[in-house]
Amino acid sequence: MRNRVLITGGAGFLGSHLCERLLEEGNDVICADNLFTGSKDNIRHLMGNPYFEFIRHDVTNPLFVEVDEIYNLACPASPVHYQYNPIKTTKTSVYGALNMLGLAKRTGARILQASTSEVYGDPEIHPQPEHYRGCVNPIGIRSCYDEGKRVAETLFFDYYRQHKVDIKVMRIFNTYGPRMNPNDGRVVSNFIVQALKGQPITIYGDGRQTRSFCYVDDLVEGMIKLMKSRRGFTGPVNMGNPGEFTIGELANQVIAMTGTKSEIIYKPLPGDDPMQRKPVIKLAREELSWEPTIELEEGLKKTIQYFKTLI
Ligand code: NAD
Ligand code: UDP
Repeated sequence: MRNRVLITGGAGFLGSHLCERLLEEGNDVICADNLFTGSKDNIRHLMGNPYFEFIRHDVTNPLFVEVDEIYNLACPASPVHYQYNPIKTTKTSVYGALNMLGLAKRTGARILQASTSEVYGDPEIHPQPEHYRGCVNPIGIRSCYDEGKRVAETLFFDYYRQHKVDIKVMRIFNTYGPRMNPNDGRVVSNFIVQALKGQPITIYGDGRQTRSFCYVDDLVEGMIKLMKSRRGFTGPVNMGNPGEFTIGELANQVIAMTGTKSEIIYKPLPGDDPMQRKPVIKLAREELSWEPTIELEEGLKKTIQYFKTLI
């Protein structure tokens, strides 16, 4: 019998790539999404597949399906979108985790949580290993997302200890690639769209803050490896590309690669914007034999190509 997999947030950027990969590998895939930031366009090419099912569903409500594995990705990931309705964002992370963990408990399914490097907040330790407990402002504009994801991790570990639910927690660092929403607001898509439209490239702050950018195919590979890892290996495990770039460097790279005439303009840095971010991926290397293979330039090339077809 085919493995029955539920992917919440499956119509989003990462989720749609994951649906595609898991179908290719012969799984029976259910994609549950409320289409807040996701879109049917991301999964349209999968709709004719008899082993693919889309359910319009909000994870703040319980879901009753029989599955073997759950990937819990439902949650807006871009600051612009998660700050649009911050109370809903916290509900999505917290009620979403409770509902999906309840489902995992009832069905005995293995469950993976898409957590985030945001659990480290604006880190005082660089690069960030999994044992670092983070520096998160509990009352700032990013808190709905950061604290929501932190509570979700807490719930995962409490269900693991209290009910023996088979959990996997993955801390994802900035990931980019085709199918990011052009209006998503995240830095890679913003810069590429601005460059291709000849609009000014908007750097927030002085552009000296850093991020580490992972290409989507690498990330999805790591996610599946974590799901398949030995029972009892719960994580949390960092996944991302340890290559570290300033936002200014990223802007210049996009300008060079697109050949745009766009100028750079500087806008105020949003509140609590982390100054630096880079994963330690020793655990993923050792436990999962995973490491990213796609350098920023190669990944940007594929992503620029994708946005050219849209614009
Ligand atoms: P995305 O916004 O493209 O995808 C999120 C999906 O969840 C969308 O399809 C959206 O419609 C859906 N969703 C939102 N609220 C929902 C709800 N209440 N019920 C059902 N569906 C809901 O973002 P993404 O980049 O694909 O991120 C996927 C997951 O990975 C998120 O949980 C995010 O926090 C996590 N993550 C992503 C990154 C990254 O860089 N892409 C980094 C860290 C963590
Ligand atoms: N950023 C920017 N210009 C943009 C969008 C984002 O300079 O048009 C900056 C943002 O302030 C942050 C970094 O790029 O320092 C990464 O932002 P993103 O929203 O992609 O993700 P974050 O890692 O902050 O959640």
